[in-house]
Amino acid sequence: MMHWSMRRQSSWVQLAGHQGTFQLSEGGEVLKLYSEVEAKCLDCLMRDPLRPFVPQYHGLVTKGDHGYIRLEDLLSGLRKPVIMDCKMGVRTYQEGELIKARTKATLRSDMYQKMVEIDPSAPSAEEHEQRGVTKCRYLQWRDTNSSTSTLGFRIEGVMMEDGSVQRDFRKIRTFAQVTEAFLFFTRRQLEILKAYHSRLLALSDALKNSIFFRTHEVIGSSLLFVHDHSSKASVWMIDFAKTTPVPDASPLRHNIPWAEGSREDGYLIGLTSLITSLSQAEKK
Ligand code: ATP
Ligand code: MG
Ligand code: MG
Repeated sequence: MMHWSMRRQSSWVQLAGHQGTFQLSEGGEVLKLYSEVEAKCLDCLMRDPLRPFVPQYHGLVTKGDHGYIRLEDLLSGLRKPVIMDCKMGVRTYQEGELIKARTKATLRSDMYQKMVEIDPSAPSAEEHEQRGVTKCRYLQWRDTNSSTSTLGFRIEGVMMEDGSVQRDFRKIRTFAQVTEAFLFFTRRQLEILKAYHSRLLALSDALKNSIFFRTHEVIGSSLLFVHDHSSKASVWMIDFAKTTPVPDASPLRHNIPWAEGSREDGYLIGLTSLITSLSQAEKK
């Protein structure tokens, strides 16, 4: 379940994700509930040109009954951070999830609820009557109802310096709206827009040299934009829980639309959209 939470007494803020997934730790670290898929990715990433764009990974720790991965806290040292989580790619589900969902005709009332929360007119008359939608329908609707399928990313959420959280951005569909969102998020501070822009260009270079990127299908991963009033601004790649290796012999291009079976994620379509939108915001 998506939720938004924050703990004001520390710098820690969680913009997306499941409740109970994260724990604060000492020494500028956060602990995220262990997933083998994510731990393997982070292991690879620490030896890849993408390392400077990923929170530092310090291995595993067990607390109580659960295992956690130890990550650098990207908010550490920032006062009243302003944060934006952009979920990257032209789809946010794995091919396997879709195949599995197709075999199940079960109606999901939780997914119906989420759909209605975002857009009460989205369910069909029949779905309204049943008060349920299939998972397959929900997965595809979520990506086509946002900028995911067209622009290759969607803004999952924004938290401003006063702690207020904006979730409405998930409905954004057009370039112009994304540019407006950047202007709102940065309060039109040119220095910050420029810092984000150059960080994304550097990321784009690093992705070209990354073996990890060439050999992984990156699904549901986010770019986390973070700045504070001192005009420190940076962007980080986070969330590799659905990022999986592809066979060495068939590396991915990341810049073409997805056709089922291709495993293409459209990550670079999203990155290009973000860079274009930032340069437009700088001119406004
Ligand atoms: P989901 O799959 O629903 O997106 P998740 O449970 O996999 O969520 P993440 O996406 O990894 O969790 O993180 C959720 C949120 O927690 C991010 O949007 C961000 O606000 C915060 N967060 C994650 N990792 C870090 C980090 N290393 N430092 C600071 N904040 C972080
Ligand atoms: Mg996430
Ligand atoms: Mg995740």
